[in-house]
Amino acid sequence: MIIRHQSSNKPQITPIKAFQDNYIWAMIEDQNLIIVDPGDAKPVLEFISHSKLNLLSILITHKHLDHMGGVDKLYANYPNIEIYAPRDSNFSFPYKAVGEGGEFKINGTSMNFKVLETPGHTLDHIVYINESNLFCGDTLFACGCGRIFEGTYNQMFESLQKFKKLDATMKVFCAHEYTVKNIEFALSLNPTNKKLLNRLKSCLYQEITLPSSLKEEFETNPFLLAKDINQFKEIRQQKDVF
Ligand SMILES: [Zn+2]
Repeated sequence: MIIRHQSSNKPQITPIKAFQDNYIWAMIEDQNLIIVDPGDAKPVLEFISHSKLNLLSILITHKHLDHMGGVDKLYANYPNIEIYAPRDSNFSFPYKAVGEGGEFKINGTSMNFKVLETPGHTLDHIVYINESNLFCGDTLFACGCGRIFEGTYNQMFESLQKFKKLDATMKVFCAHEYTVKNIEFALSLNPTNKKLLNRLKSCLYQEITLPSSLKEEFETNPFLLAKDINQFKEIRQQKDVF
């Protein structure tokens, strides 16, 4: 099990791979562990057994099974953990419901989180911000954004605008490895864009392209660069069939 160490001290954040292209993010402070979006319990249980870390909490961004399908089993193994999930979800396991503007601290750690509601991909979708780390689930991807399954184009567009108010140095921890395909799509709209060409070059042979930074997203993500809702809708529809 490889734990990737980040340059900043705390927390360390490392991906646990799941399914085809999901990332379950593991936040580590001292011997404590927080898990974001455990779609599958098995790789998380393996990670805990290898790392000997102490699972304290699970954060869930939205109701899709590949983000919370592992919670029941993890909860059965660790019944004292605190689970945070969107207030607009309706899960059978016990959880603390959080929504726009919500703030909480994980007991026994220095880790604080702020919550933003980002409906569009699903209606319940939220993102978590810890210091300069953004856990954005399926709302924002590296050079892309989530498909609109439940919300409206308008909701997704407004959700993405919220990221523009955040610090550009923020690291972006998305829940899927879609980066190269997303850059290829962005290049199909803008084939000679140097920043996109450079981004493709730097991501092409990397096994894990995340986290990205909001700065990179502000500069190259076509969904954040869309000048209005009409342009956003047009490129989201084009991406759906790319
Ligand atoms: Zn999803």
